[in-house]
Amino acid sequence: MNISEDFMKNLIKPREPIFIEMESFAKENHVPIMQLSGMEVLLQLLSLQKPASILELGTAIGYSSMRMADKLEASIVTVERDEQKAMLAKEYINRANLEERIRVIIGDALELDEDTLNNQRFDAIFIDAAKGQYKKFFEKYAPLLNDRGVIYCDNILLNGLSELPIEEVPRRKRTMVRNQHQFMEWLMQHPDYDTAFFSVGDGMLVSIKR
Ligand code: SAM
Repeated sequence: MNISEDFMKNLIKPREPIFIEMESFAKENHVPIMQLSGMEVLLQLLSLQKPASILELGTAIGYSSMRMADKLEASIVTVERDEQKAMLAKEYINRANLEERIRVIIGDALELDEDTLNNQRFDAIFIDAAKGQYKKFFEKYAPLLNDRGVIYCDNILLNGLSELPIEEVPRRKRTMVRNQHQFMEWLMQHPDYDTAFFSVGDGMLVSIKR
């Protein structure tokens, strides 16, 4: 069983006012940002890994990229296809004086070419974008990972849908769930990565490049 988010909120150290503001904004405007419990575990794992560079797919309003920049010394590139959200992310990032550390790219991560990323390589890749497309993201961006780099994938449980028998999943979401199952099976057996599943937040896969 996962720890409840309310219980978690009372346990963890207070966050900077700008993060509290972003959490409230996300809640009021139905922007899906990382759940607190998942965020805390991701930050802890990244603190152990100490990446110098992180690529994030799925910026939304910049919450997770700013939390990573606040906790770590890494430089971050984050990609968001929704222009309105990306602009809001830039505003928050500027307000927190993190614009030197976080580069927001507006565009579809599945269509970006390497030039946009200046042929950069990354120590960590965090996938938190369109559900059901994770295999495509993974295959496209894994070649940019440095040796012994780590790929973190959030929302693996799809808010519980992943664990349901497929007949109980609403029809319009079945393809997404099937894709996610295939992705998990494929990744857990991948010869180039050691992958572990963390039952935290909405479920996270952590894959270390061999
Ligand atoms: N990582 C953010 C956080 O925790 O603060 C939350 C990201 S939200 C779960 C997913 C975001 O991915 C959405 O804002 C969505 O517009 C974006 N997205 C989905 N598919 C994308 C794609 N192919 N390329 C770029 N962004 C994408």
